[in-house]
Amino acid sequence: MSKLIYREPNGNWGVKGVSWAEIPDGLYGALYKLKDYEETGLNPAHVKELAGCCRLIDWTYQDVEHNVWQCGHCGALHRFEADGPEENGFSFCPYCGMNIDWGEEEDDDEPA
Ligand SMILES: [Zn+2]
Repeated sequence: MSKLIYREPNGNWGVKGVSWAEIPDGLYGALYKLKDYEETGLNPAHVKELAGCCRLIDWTYQDVEHNVWQCGHCGALHRFEADGPEENGFSFCPYCGMNIDWGEEEDDDEPA
């Protein structure tokens, strides 16, 4: 996908094939955001992929007797010797790489 925004060596920028005189004032903010987006070098598929990597996924307790937990994204099962993913320092699923949501900390000092 070719870029819609050009940038000159002196830092000036604009929309290819359109003079600033033809562009309504109300569109400047949107074009500025488009310029920033295009300068990242990413395409929409890259952005979706990155957003997915930052999403938090839950690990749930599947087998209490054997202390087995399951990734809510890839479904992989993992057995801990003791405790769960948070206590064992698992920030990411070792099978799919997604961020693990440890959930909100319970605050025992707060009145019920
Ligand atoms: Zn996973």
